[in-house]
Amino acid sequence: MTQTIALIGHPVAHSLSPAFQQAALDALGVDARYEAWDLLPEELPMAAERLRSAALLGANVTVPHKEAMLRFIDRPDALVERVGALNTIVHREGQLHATNTDVSGVLRALEAAGASPRGMRVVLLGAGGAARAVVVAMRVAEAASVVVANRTRGRAEDLVELGGEAMPVTTCGLEEDDAELEAAMARADLVVNSTTLGMTHGPDEHATPVPARMFRGGQVAFDLVYVPERTPFLEAAEAAGARPVGGLAMLVHQGAESFRLWTGYEPPVDVMFEAARAALAARAR
Ligand code: NAP
Repeated sequence: MTQTIALIGHPVAHSLSPAFQQAALDALGVDARYEAWDLLPEELPMAAERLRSAALLGANVTVPHKEAMLRFIDRPDALVERVGALNTIVHREGQLHATNTDVSGVLRALEAAGASPRGMRVVLLGAGGAARAVVVAMRVAEAASVVVANRTRGRAEDLVELGGEAMPVTTCGLEEDDAELEAAMARADLVVNSTTLGMTHGPDEHATPVPARMFRGGQVAFDLVYVPERTPFLEAAEAAGARPVGGLAMLVHQGAESFRLWTGYEPPVDVMFEAARAALAARAR
């Protein structure tokens, strides 16, 4: 029987996951289809029921359903509890298990670039859904501290509880003249962009949340945005001598971890990267 893995979100047509997950399934000869399900909130109960059928291996869940799907899960793991959102569902004998592979996606992307967050002072720009997974990843990796800088300060405050004694989380504004941001940037070892600035078709595709003058040599600059691969944030960081790490690595590594959970196979990460880049190039044409 051909099995199915679903991608649940709205919209989902722009996602790169179907291209690189199907390439990975085909490369290993797994008899399964990775299908995009574009669903409205009222369609989620039906989708959860369908996920419990024998033909379904599981699902990825993306914006805006990462929190809403929680109520259908039988077994959320500790990462889901900490982040407050899931991105992967695994179907096991009628039960839905859930995890959040964005956390390991962040860590593997940094690891692949030779940057371990252990002991690092981190500035996190943005405080949306992805930012929560970044803070949890920093805590798992034993970063020294996180300063969350966000346009809407109250939203940054919501992330403070994710820290602890060993890794304090504090907040500041995101305006260029914010003295706390300036000071945090000067001290930072790792700067992460989790805003949508710089994203093709985003709110401002030519903008960087922080200018080149705020970076310094030796810092690591990690952009979660992956379209384009070379973002204004990464260009600004590189101009100041910081080391750029692009978001495509996180996307592929979170997907690779999901693939491992659904299939039990070691994911062919190189195949996944190649297919993701080909899909990006096809889209740019
Ligand atoms: P989200 O929940 O919508 O959060 C968006 C963030 O961007 C908020 O902090 C928001 O600030 C900020 N923002 C938006 N417009 C802004 C502007 N004009 N000026 C300043 N700040 C602005 O989005 P998300 O789910 O966290 O995703 C954030 C980014 O990460 C997206 O580009 C997404 O594609 C990327 N991402 C990548 C991966 C990966 O695997 N590489 C995974 C997940 C997400 P306010 O709170 O003030 O509105």
